[in-house]
Amino acid sequence: MPIYAMYCHSCQHEEDIYRSIAKMDDDLPKCCGSTMQRRIVAPMISDDIQPYKSMCDGSWITSRSQHRAHLKQHKVIEVGNEKIQVPKKQVAAPAGLKDTLIRVANDKLK
Ligand SMILES: [Zn+2]
Repeated sequence: MPIYAMYCHSCQHEEDIYRSIAKMDDDLPKCCGSTMQRRIVAPMISDDIQPYKSMCDGSWITSRSQHRAHLKQHKVIEVGNEKIQVPKKQVAAPAGLKDTLIRVANDKLK
């Protein structure tokens, strides 16, 4: 569903509404006592990635979707995008370590 940018000419208030094309004019928001006007705004589009030659198999990757599929196919990840695994179980400290650390800290305070 598209997002429509609404605008109030009286107070310059802007608001985005989200609805189907069939209902784009139904129940438009009001501001300053009148119905807000729909604005035409440029869609946000970003460039696709630049083509590159895969280090896995030498094939040319020419789109972002192909890039994602290629990484998945070869079970590789991009450096910087890896998920960091946090161990779920905590390792128990050796018995008496806490007491030793408290004693050392207390000795340094003396
Ligand atoms: Zn207004």
